[in-house]
Formats: sequence, structure tokens, C-alpha cells
Amino acid sequence: MNYIDMHCDTLSEAFLRGRKDIFDFPEAMVDVKRLKKAGAAAQFFAIYMMPQTGESLRDAKPERDERSSRKSRDSAIPDDDLYIEALCKIMEDTVREHPELIAVTRSAEELEDNLAGKRISAFLTLEDGRAVQGSMDRLEDFYKMGIRLISLTWNFANCFGSPNSTDRTVMEQGLTAFGKEAVSRMEELGMIVDVSHLSDGGFLDVAQVLHGPFVASHSNCRALSPHPRNLTDDMLRTLGERGGVAGLNFFPAFLHRDETREDSTVRHMAAHIKHMVNKGGIECAAIGTDFDGIHGQLEIGEPQKMHLLFERLEQEGFTTGEIEKIAFGNVRRVIHSLL
Ligand SMILES: [Zn+2]
Repeated sequence: MNYIDMHCDTLSEAFLRGRKDIFDFPEAMVDVKRLKKAGAAAQFFAIYMMPQTGESLRDAKPERDERSSRKSRDSAIPDDDLYIEALCKIMEDTVREHPELIAVTRSAEELEDNLAGKRISAFLTLEDGRAVQGSMDRLEDFYKMGIRLISLTWNFANCFGSPNSTDRTVMEQGLTAFGKEAVSRMEELGMIVDVSHLSDGGFLDVAQVLHGPFVASHSNCRALSPHPRNLTDDMLRTLGERGGVAGLNFFPAFLHRDETREDSTVRHMAAHIKHMVNKGGIECAAIGTDFDGIHGQLEIGEPQKMHLLFERLEQEGFTTGEIEKIAFGNVRRVIHSLL
């Protein structure tokens, strides 16, 4: 089945493992070979900005997080720009070797061309707007490089705003003055604003400043799993009203009430999808697996198993048309409205 995944960290994984491309990458959760077998229409590939020396994961957040179990690899982290260049090169080299299978994609028109040509659309995204360094010129440079979505923050404050947090004063912080100006500029340029990882105050500011849709690329429902990375019912309603989407994250700690659980099953995923649909409408639910950024006992740990989720949704009473929207149509609509 055609599907679009709004978030994976495979490029960072490739970089850390010294890989030159991600065509055949069995050590990772995602590679082009498996995306092709799974019928993926598009994959958003994040350039995940690893914490810089001095920012430790423990300082960022006391609770469990997608990457909290990862070893610190500070010593391996180069300058931001060299790192971004290296990850883009991994993507470019992959595409150059297999142009019949995958293409770096910058617009709705290119997405449609790729669908017609049965090529996977690869969208480049930036996870942590820190790399923008408070500069509108740098923001435009990233646009020119082909980046079409920015997750405004990761788990630290940056030039855009503050991260999600269990600390209320942090969670209530809105966007910075630059952040407000920059998200408007992103909308003008044709870049998707992503509020996953952002503070609740930041979400409200994004909703106020932007006119069109925006997304939470890889976040679940806080009503079912109280982690601050997840979305409140009000946020789901706002995303729905604005024509945006929330992408279902497969990470166990974002699926359960009990953050220490290690299992991620299609039963729990379907519960989050149902909740998204109940609050935000059928148009707001989407997929953002977070593959290569998550761990645990994952019922779906790679693209070829995605069909298990769609089959589960069918068992739960979703129609074929509704499942197509969740898997593919809703994100395609956002791409058409913004890119
Ligand atoms: Zn993330």
C-alpha cells in the first residue's frame, strides 16, 4: 500500500556508521530497498542535529526520550554545517546510484511525477532549527538546499523557541521574536513547519502566526500517553482545523500511559490513530514512524511490516478510503498546499 512516513533518522544513523549511501543498509531500520518492497510513496529523511558538546541528554530532559539510551557520541560530531552537508551527500549519492527508484523531492509537482514514475519521493527535513542560527539568510540557504520541513526545536531551547518539557515554565514558553518571523518566512518560501518536540506555548504561537497548515511530524496523543512530546486534544483539534496532520510515532514511551513499557504494537498504534481522528478528524491522522530514532519491542520495526498497521485499522472498522487518507492522502494534501 502507498504510504508516506513523515519522520525517520536513517541519514544520521548512516553518518554515525560511516555509510556512503542508504540503498542497502541492513543494520538500520530503513533503507531504499525495503522502502521499495513496502510500497512507500514518500519518506521524509530528517537531518537530526545531534546535541553539541556541553549539551548532554540528561540536561535536556529527565524523562525517557527517543534517544535517551543512545551512547553519547559527542566526539564524533563535527561542525553543524559539515554534518548537514555530509548527510545531504549520503542522500544525493543514494539517489544518484538509483534514480529509477528514488528522487530527492522539493515540490508537490515532483511528488506527482515520482508517483507516476513509481519512484519513492525523498523529502529532506531538519530536526532542530538550531542550525538556522537566528539568520533569515541561513533559513533561505536551507530552502535552496532542498530542505522542505523544519522541526523547530529538538529538546533544547534554540533561536526558534523552547522544547517540550515537564517543567511548566519551559512548556509555556512561546516562540522567540525570530521564531515568529522565521515561521512566517517558511510559509512564504514553501517549507512545512513541524511542531513535534516544541513547547506547548510554541505550538500556540505557530497556530497564531501561520495562515495555512502545519504538522506534528512524529507525535502521539497526550490523552493516551502523558509524555510532553505528545499532543493535547486541543492541539489535535487545531491541527485538524488548519488542514495539518499529526504523524503517529511508533516509540513505546509515546504510546503507553506507563513510559517504562517497551512494547509497541499495532493495537496501541490504532488506539492513537482513533483518538487523533476523534479529536482532529479523519483528515489529521498520518504516520511519522521515527524509525532509526527509536528502540524497544517493536511490532513494526521496518517498512515491510507497515501493512500490519493498515490491516489492524481495517479490523478496527476504518474504511479503505479512510486508511488511504491516514497512510498517504493527508500528507499528500499538506504537500500540495505548502510545497
Ligand atoms: Zn524526534
